[in-house]
Amino acid sequence: MKKIFLVLIVFYSLALSNELPELGSSSDSIISVFQEKKIRIQLLYQANLSPTVLKDPEINAYMEQLGKKLMNKSSLISTDPISFFIIQDRTINAFAMLGGVIGVHTGLIYAANSESELASVLAHEIAHITQKHLPRIIEAQSKDTFKTSLAMVFALLVARSNPQLANAAMQTAQAAAVQNTLDFTREHEKEADREGLKILSKSGFDERAFISFFKSLDEANRFSAGAAPSFLRTHPITLDRISDIEDRIKQIPYKQREDDLNFFLVRAKLQAFEGDPNTSINSLKTNIQNKSGVNQDAEYFALSYAYLRGGKLKNAQEAFHQIKHLRRLSPMVNELEANLLLKNQKLKELEQHYQEALLIFPNYKAYIYGLADVYLRTHKNKEAILLLEEYLSIYPLDANLYKLLATAHSKNRSLYKEYKNLSEFFYYSYDLKEAANQMTSAINSADASFYDKAKAEQRLKEIQAEIRLYENVQ
Ligand SMILES: [Zn+2]
Repeated sequence: MKKIFLVLIVFYSLALSNELPELGSSSDSIISVFQEKKIRIQLLYQANLSPTVLKDPEINAYMEQLGKKLMNKSSLISTDPISFFIIQDRTINAFAMLGGVIGVHTGLIYAANSESELASVLAHEIAHITQKHLPRIIEAQSKDTFKTSLAMVFALLVARSNPQLANAAMQTAQAAAVQNTLDFTREHEKEADREGLKILSKSGFDERAFISFFKSLDEANRFSAGAAPSFLRTHPITLDRISDIEDRIKQIPYKQREDDLNFFLVRAKLQAFEGDPNTSINSLKTNIQNKSGVNQDAEYFALSYAYLRGGKLKNAQEAFHQIKHLRRLSPMVNELEANLLLKNQKLKELEQHYQEALLIFPNYKAYIYGLADVYLRTHKNKEAILLLEEYLSIYPLDANLYKLLATAHSKNRSLYKEYKNLSEFFYYSYDLKEAANQMTSAINSADASFYDKAKAEQRLKEIQAEIRLYENVQ
């Protein structure tokens, strides 16, 4: 926690000292495609480094899927990528940034009472991006007020994901001035509501969730003296806004929507991994006894994970037995069972378990990582390499797969392949400089053939060209 804070401070002060280029000249009509791409890469690079950004493949996959479902119904063209990351922070917040990056606090996921409620906030944030609200704000500033450095804007966007840093940023008057002008206007909020509502509706979610969630956030904020300050500060809910959405919803016929079991399991998993496991265990047990949880199956699911964390394997097993029948319904239940097998050191059964699970839920990333890991643990490097190469053809941008593949090659003592895959791991983790370093090591490794070298040199040229391109973006 402390470490990342320092890293961010260093990063932030670098940014303030104008190490990064300045925003385009006032003749630019709008922030350029390359500027946005550059910001996108830098934001995602920071997100990857941050220990408060969630690395759970299942929860990230869930968010990615939900986001994709909404994006497909938005006005975005498929070449505009949107990336989500989840920050472990109990405050209720979500924020759209430049470069199509959306940050979501775990607090927001807890606060949502249904998948439609969560989707309504995501749809609203996606709409801020499709309507280009931030580029429009920044463009207006560079013309009208003062020449803002891109570095400052960027530092403030990073700060949005971290309230502590936001306070540090506020200490300079200039930063405060920029921060205030980066806020969306009432008109932006209204437009994001309207567009968001359209996206939500087209994606088959319950449109009423839009209003119910905003109302409950507003109430929570009033009664508990600011439970949702960050979200409400950046997205102020006005009576005007609420009545505007209500008018639109009145015209839409009511549709009942069954919530995806995975929505509850995602919340349960987040809960199980937070704070002291014994506290979680006690509160989950009480919920189960009183049937006071939102979804009883999800309570057992969380309880099993909480026991696992607390090292109580037998209890974890017992809790899992209560929901074992859901294995064919949810990939997450299978992954829980896999975790139990791993903790019990039943590696042979675990291997078979993952192979079967991949037949029920093909291409599920957590299983691919899990199976590769079992192969590596049991010295089946050949199997691991075959598996990872197969799935890299499906997920060619997945950094994790490259990292596992590098590990497998390293165990085989194939230096060239190890460095080459490490390079791709860094490349897809948005660390272009380290990607170039590793590719150079691949070229120089003793076991590289003439053909290997030529291939790696070509790739290195591509990476270096990309680095230069972003360096030249003003
Ligand atoms: Zn908003």
